[in-house]
Amino acid sequence: MSEELRPCPFCGETVSLDYSELPNKKHWYITCDCCGMMYQAVVCQRKDTKTDWNNRPIEDALNARIAQLEAELATLKSENVNLSKKVTDYEKELRQSYKLDATSTAAGRSVRDE
Ligand SMILES: [Zn+2]
Repeated sequence: MSEELRPCPFCGETVSLDYSELPNKKHWYITCDCCGMMYQAVVCQRKDTKTDWNNRPIEDALNARIAQLEAELATLKSENVNLSKKVTDYEKELRQSYKLDATSTAAGRSVRDE
């Protein structure tokens, strides 16, 4: 199974891998038809060119950090829902213990009066 080429880091579009053979120079290169980016490998093997192109440690680290932060955000959203429910339940409990109707505030005034 061949390794897919990652998209262009400048515009995000797909890129293509080509081979050029001149009398004194043979090499694989990657180009982006969208923005004109060209990457010329210093290696001669097609497989190595793809591996070098796809090696992006900073991008990979950033994607891992984004995934970590999205997971933390999902946890915080879930905790927020739980806290909101606890506040609502506590408010109902207080209203029942002080015998307030749903429109009254804790200070004894009606919300409709404000
Ligand atoms: Zn591009």
